[in-house]
Amino acid sequence: MPQDERLERILEAAQGARSGGKPASYIPALAAADPGLLGLAVAWKDGSLRSAGAARVDFTVQSISKAFALAWVLEERGEDAVFSKVGKEPSGDPFNSIIRLETDRRRRPFNPFINAGALVVTSLLPGATPGNRIEGLLGFMSRMTGRDGLGIDAAVRDSERDSAARNRAIAWFLSELGLLEGDVDETLDLYFRQCAIMLCAEDLARAGLVLALDGMLPDGGGRLLEARNAHIVKSLMSTCGLYDGSGEFSVETGIPAKSGVGGGIMGAVRDRCGIAAFGPALDERGNSSGGIEALRLLSDEYGLRAL
Ligand code: GLU
Repeated sequence: MPQDERLERILEAAQGARSGGKPASYIPALAAADPGLLGLAVAWKDGSLRSAGAARVDFTVQSISKAFALAWVLEERGEDAVFSKVGKEPSGDPFNSIIRLETDRRRRPFNPFINAGALVVTSLLPGATPGNRIEGLLGFMSRMTGRDGLGIDAAVRDSERDSAARNRAIAWFLSELGLLEGDVDETLDLYFRQCAIMLCAEDLARAGLVLALDGMLPDGGGRLLEARNAHIVKSLMSTCGLYDGSGEFSVETGIPAKSGVGGGIMGAVRDRCGIAAFGPALDERGNSSGGIEALRLLSDEYGLRAL
């Protein structure tokens, strides 16, 4: 796949303009990432894929897995199973906030992309055993990305597992509220595994394209997701995909997207392309600072604003 000169220029400008930041360190194994890496990829509707920089470097998807898990659970369990327990509203709080679970009168997570909502969705992953459940999600992500044999970064998974006091607190509180299906520790273990799934920006751009095509695979590959489910995932990406930075990102790019603390961002531009950026240096909200800048420039360059 050729590296693309137009994208190279965008990346150079983004490297120069990005406002610093550093890799996540609350999961110790993520702190080792090279903060200078930056990659960009676009999967166009005609099936062509263009990329530049570190677009083939694998990293852990972290919270981007929440978009895949939501899509998969919507397909397998239906809308009511999710939205009887999780809302559809932005919280305006950081991704790992616990406070509103107790203070809000509805006593349920605001949306599926903050950790509390994502843990509920993970508890709904279909399958008879933990192994089946993670394999089911991996298989679905393989179909979305077009990449076989997806792997899990065991060091990052273990590092998160061993430093997850806050996520454990959230999960046990959800259990007290009657919102977690099944065993709490099993849900947490599945969540650590789904966050440590490894993909690269090119894979995420391909998955973004499936969302952009309302659930269809490119090149006449058939339907992978119900259109309604693709719409739900994209809508929540546009309002909640970058945590408490979602509004600003939307103003700057006009593109529904989902970020993760591994440094990835996946976006979908309806009927045109899937896009992705990777840069492990994060801003104070946990979003890739270089990635946001690269996507802002990309959106301007190609007129990708949906909003
Ligand atoms: N595994 C991370 C956590 O739960 C994901 C957070 C993120 O990517 O924003 O803390």
